[in-house]
Amino acid sequence: MIVVRRAKESDAEAAIDVVRRSITELCAADHHDDASTLANWLANKTSKDFLAWLANADNFCVVAESDGRLLGVGVVNRKGEILLFYLAPGAQRQGIGRKIHTALEEQANRWGLASLHLDSTALACRFYEALGYRPTGPAALRFGVLQTFPHAKPLQPSHYTGGCLCGAVRIEINAAPHRVGICHCLDCRKRQGAIFHTFAVFPANAVTVTGETREYKTRSFCPTCGSPLFDRFGEEFELHIGCLDAPNLFTPAYEVWMIRREAWLPPFDVAHHYERDRTTKARSDS
Ligand SMILES: [Zn+2]
Ligand SMILES: [Zn+2]
Repeated sequence: MIVVRRAKESDAEAAIDVVRRSITELCAADHHDDASTLANWLANKTSKDFLAWLANADNFCVVAESDGRLLGVGVVNRKGEILLFYLAPGAQRQGIGRKIHTALEEQANRWGLASLHLDSTALACRFYEALGYRPTGPAALRFGVLQTFPHAKPLQPSHYTGGCLCGAVRIEINAAPHRVGICHCLDCRKRQGAIFHTFAVFPANAVTVTGETREYKTRSFCPTCGSPLFDRFGEEFELHIGCLDAPNLFTPAYEVWMIRREAWLPPFDVAHHYERDRTTKARSDS
């Protein structure tokens, strides 16, 4: 199973190994085996550089991992620039690049960015164009003989709608979620009569609810049709994903209360598992 997760300091050696092998072996058509171009390209691709990228709060760094092996690396910064995007040799054409890109794009949405941009190699242009990127200018030379092609992708402003079964309660959200998760706890089971709860947590000030709701503790539901809808926790609004008007808008990144998980459920492709509640107070969990 391939999991895309936030990079950690302990990933530095393996992540840089992926980057260096990818450049050396997969990008031969770009550096043409020109020794000085390759040396310049690799010069700032050391584990020390990786730790510096990781330590920079304006960067968001992810890795793709399978069975404890790193297969890809991606870094985006708060200006919407994709600084680093490499797959290990042998990891192409398995959807890993797409998964990494989704994680970077979700972060760009959380930052409220209008677009993403990057310099593509000649070989990668098709991949990026399939993801919605378009060329924005002429090719440029870097590191020697490497030709790079500037590309950008506009991002859709985040806008989601949902509501209860009878339609009396409507919910409108103008923000990307901080995080998306699954809870297996006994409270969540009982409140919905379902064996787990899937939710997306938004900034409360980005949410508008119309129609009458009733509350049990933090839990809001429609008094007419009984649909469970959301919880409010201070500045956070936790929406039940099933209330959204369309499927496939979010993919959970973590599971909590694993100790209550139904034994027959297959494993889910998420980055983090918590035995009970989350052990971090960070708003994001990816
Ligand atoms: Zn209703
Ligand atoms: Zn729960």
